[in-house]
Amino acid sequence: MRGRSPLPAGRVDLSVWTSEHIFRGSAVRDLPTVSDFAQSVKQQVDIVKIVEGYIRLRKAGATNYSGLCPFHKEKSPSFNVHAVRQFFHCFGCGVSGDVFTFVGRIENVSFPEAVRTVAQKAGIPLPKREFSSPEEAAEARMRGKLLDLHEAAASYFEEQLRGPEGALAREYLAGRGMTPDGIRTFRIGYGPDSFGALRDRLSGMADEATLRASGLFSSKEQGDGSQGPIYDRFRKRVTFPICNESGRVIAFTARTLESGEKAGPKYVNSPETPLYHKGEVLFNLDKAKSAIRQAGYALLVEGQMDCISLFLRGIQHVIATSGTAFTEQQVAILKRHTQNVVVNFDPDAAGANAAEKSIALLTEEGFNLKLVTLDGGLDPDRFIRERGVEAYTQAVMGARRQSDYLIERARQMFPGGTAEQKQKAINYLLPHIRRIPQKLMRDQFAMDAAQKLGIDSAIVREELRQAALKRREHIEVRTTALTEVERVLLRALAITDPEHEEARRTAADAVTRQPQWFEGLGVAASLGALAARGARDPMDVVEDPRQKARLAEALLAENEPPTPETVVSTIVSLQQRGIEAQLREMRAQIAEAERRGDFAALAILTQRKLKLDQALRKLRSGGNGSISGRNP
Ligand SMILES: [Zn+2]
Repeated sequence: MRGRSPLPAGRVDLSVWTSEHIFRGSAVRDLPTVSDFAQSVKQQVDIVKIVEGYIRLRKAGATNYSGLCPFHKEKSPSFNVHAVRQFFHCFGCGVSGDVFTFVGRIENVSFPEAVRTVAQKAGIPLPKREFSSPEEAAEARMRGKLLDLHEAAASYFEEQLRGPEGALAREYLAGRGMTPDGIRTFRIGYGPDSFGALRDRLSGMADEATLRASGLFSSKEQGDGSQGPIYDRFRKRVTFPICNESGRVIAFTARTLESGEKAGPKYVNSPETPLYHKGEVLFNLDKAKSAIRQAGYALLVEGQMDCISLFLRGIQHVIATSGTAFTEQQVAILKRHTQNVVVNFDPDAAGANAAEKSIALLTEEGFNLKLVTLDGGLDPDRFIRERGVEAYTQAVMGARRQSDYLIERARQMFPGGTAEQKQKAINYLLPHIRRIPQKLMRDQFAMDAAQKLGIDSAIVREELRQAALKRREHIEVRTTALTEVERVLLRALAITDPEHEEARRTAADAVTRQPQWFEGLGVAASLGALAARGARDPMDVVEDPRQKARLAEALLAENEPPTPETVVSTIVSLQQRGIEAQLREMRAQIAEAERRGDFAALAILTQRKLKLDQALRKLRSGGNGSISGRNP
């Protein structure tokens, strides 16, 4: 299991779908196919509910919800969900699809896995079925096994903490104010002083290769380059499970109880495994996410113990970075839940590398940041234990805007108020100011800095202007530019309501019988597919992503479906334009024939032109006989 798996499994919940279900394999060919099951799942779930599990949505119209797109960087919402037609579309990056497309993209999983994930979220029982490829089956089986192993390991460590071996660990935890309730909530455990206890416990569950892949064990490289026998990784340590967003254990971090040289590192963590990618997990997000939504912001701390301690005292919208700098994936995950963050890092750590990088990344991504400084240089865990919840809540309420915090810091770093110190202070602040994507906030920060540092604000503004010139805007907005004709035809062909069937049939008949009328349209390919869709969902029959995006755009704008009259007049105007184009061409050819003196050709061309003129007159006078199928 070397290298990174193509399907990061960190956030995929396979709780029902574990190894036993998965590997029936090809023996069960007569079972329903994935797409049969998918159809039935789709009919039972609401895409709005599923999407809301990942990002915040607001009602934006009678049938629409909108929010910030999770698939591209943006500041104002261009991501839409159509509640009636059950699809999503982003006007910013052009991504469209149904509930499975959404889950597949956001979880980065294949279609069958997306179907399973959605089914599970909706509590729909999964059929026993085969996978689309042996690799996929093996991959899923491996992850199912690894989840089972982690679950078993977590139970084992919990057991050990309660047993005689765990006495010292219990003492340590009690000393840190941890109650038995808290220990249960976070499933804190103890890895005993043994090289083989966990291995023996789990060896009946999986083969050696799988045990190695789990990251629960270590081994030493041998003289010949091979790996030696496996032994327990977390020994004589308090163990803290790390969970995915669905709350399943995917890794551990373990703290030593010993001090001094032989204790080894303070914390030992799971390595990267097919289940666990460190940079894609936020500690405690599984437990904090609903509280984050309610509070409207996330409280970000560094240590897992800080996080646990605050959570257990009722401050539940708290997550931890685990002491390393944020990754882009973590920021993207957090953004699905909130864009407001209050940071409570250790006072001396706020300037430290990892913390500074996290703050910089969050700023660049357009988060609203505030920073808490706790009195007495205490970390959040000690502060809340010594001064209580009330005092801690007060401190969080008093969090300063990032700009105020940084200006204050600049003044402390470069005191004295000489011209040289002021220049240094502004040089320190400029990169922070430039990083802010919103112009208004950037300007405000610049003005505050100039004022508080006693610098002419014109100088600061000029420096920023220079920086802005170099700034690249990373959002490229794709507009599909639908014409009114295209819009009407797409909407008519997508009608599913029997009440408006006549409009649909009128459009479908014209598209089927006279495809040449529609050839010039950008959506010609979609029209053909839609006209022949039968009872299938319109969004399902159009596969090309660009065509799909256009259809989504047309459907999101809909209020009432077009009437049969609108459809007819649209097709008539389309025909008119077609005839007009032919007439232009004809005139050019006639002029050319005249120039050559080719009277035979001239006679034929003039005859044709006459027919076109007649057809055009007939269309203009409102006769729409040609709609029913006669070519002009
Ligand atoms: Zn987008």
